[in-house]
Order: sequence, then C-alpha cells, then structure tokens
Amino acid sequence: MEKELHKSYKYYGDINQLIQGVDKTIKQMGLKIKLRTVDNGSFSYILSEKIKLYTTNWPVRFEINAIRSGDIIDVNITTRYGLWSITQKKYTQQRGQDFLQLLKNNAPMDIYKDSNRICTECDKGIPFDAIICPYCGEKFDE
Ligand SMILES: [Zn+2]
Repeated sequence: MEKELHKSYKYYGDINQLIQGVDKTIKQMGLKIKLRTVDNGSFSYILSEKIKLYTTNWPVRFEINAIRSGDIIDVNITTRYGLWSITQKKYTQQRGQDFLQLLKNNAPMDIYKDSNRICTECDKGIPFDAIICPYCGEKFDE
C-alpha cells in the first residue's frame, strides 16, 4: 500500500517568486514534472524522481500544493512511496526535507520588506543588524 509523508512551508511574499523557487528546486533535484497547474493565487505540481540504476531506493513521487490565504501562501509538500521498508521511508523523508530546504533557499520570504535598511547589492529590505544579505548573500563590512 502507498504511504505518504507531509511537510509544509508558510510563505510570506510574492507568489511568482515562490513559483520560480519551486521550478528551480525541481531542476536542482532532477525531478520530472508530470503535471503543473498555476492559477491566480494557487498552484500545484505532480513530480516524480527519475528511475536510478544502482540504488536500492525506489523513486519518490512528490505533490506540491500551494494556496494563498491573505498575505500567507500555504505550501504543502507530500512525498509518496510505494514500497514499505525502513530505508525507503527514511529516503522519502530525506527527499521531502531536501525539497523544503532548497525551496526555502530558492524562495526566501520577503519579511523585511518594510525595513529601513536596504541591501546595496539587490535593493531588498534586510534586518538592521545583518552581516550577510538573506536574499542575495552579499557580505557587509563592519
Ligand atoms: Zn542583497
């Protein structure tokens, strides 16, 4: 029987940047897009891993669903796997975690947009005491 695991990300920012982040994450993870639906204020993807030779793990299937409610976009990442085993569960969990981590890097939240301090490199609002820009990674000298 098929099992599934869930992860979620509450994103505060521009939905188009979030979608770009998802697309970049898919590329970085080498996933295949089976279905991609982008609507006004929501989107969903069905993805699968390519079959790899010389591995004991079965390909994981992903479903990414996002829906806007007010200023927040709720992103849900579901990973599915068909074969029940401890290693397969661990692997599936890891892949879900990898996706979430990459997505957070690729689509960081624009939570400092009202800040008085602006990054000299990318022009985004950043924390007043930042030594590194959370968006572009620019390092600031003391
Ligand atoms: Zn920057």
